[in-house]
Order: sequence, then C-alpha cells, then structure tokens
Amino acid sequence: MKVEEKLALNKFDVDKEVHITVNEEGCRDCELKPCLYACPADCFVLREDHITFSYEGCLECGSCQIACAKGAISWTYPRGGFGVCYQYG
Ligand code: SF4
Ligand code: SF4
Repeated sequence: MKVEEKLALNKFDVDKEVHITVNEEGCRDCELKPCLYACPADCFVLREDHITFSYEGCLECGSCQIACAKGAISWTYPRGGFGVCYQYG
C-alpha cells in the first residue's frame, strides 16, 4: 500500500479554528525549507517559490515545529475532540 493510500485512511474531525499557522515572512529567506520534508502529511507545499500550508490533514506529530529553525511556525493541538482520530486513541 502506498503512503498516499495509507494517509487516505485517516479520519479527521477538522476544527474550524486553525491550530497551526506559518509566518511567511520567515519563509522568504529560508533556504532549505525543511518543513517540506518533515511533514508526513504533505501539509506544506511549495508553489512558485512560496510556501503554502493547510492544517486540515495534520497528523499532530509536531515535526514541523522542530524542523523550522526560524520559529516561523506557531503550533498547538486542535481543540479537544477535533483533529485526527487514531484507531487506538
Ligand atoms: S522551515 Fe519554517 S521558515 Fe522554513 S519554509 Fe518552512 S515554515 Fe518557513
Ligand atoms: S504537526 Fe506533523 S502532520 Fe501536522 S503539519 Fe506539522 S509536520 Fe505536518
């Protein structure tokens, strides 16, 4: 099974409140853009030299916050009961 197929099995109760934001000012001079490689859910995408982020498919792993040395990511969990639903809690 491909990674994309496995990701498609995840279930989400998406919070209307955004739980992760990216300060794109910090992204402009970020050469390696490690968030593109750290996120297992491909929430970060490079479009014409510009980082776009969508929180809806976030797996709440925290990798992006650790990978971003510029502190451009404001990270928290979704509100209680929202976000990804793991099979074993
Ligand atoms: S690692 Fe941080 S600063 Fe660099 S592109 Fe990603 S979010 Fe922006
Ligand atoms: S917490 Fe994990 S899944 Fe969510 S955006 Fe960051 S790296 Fe991606």
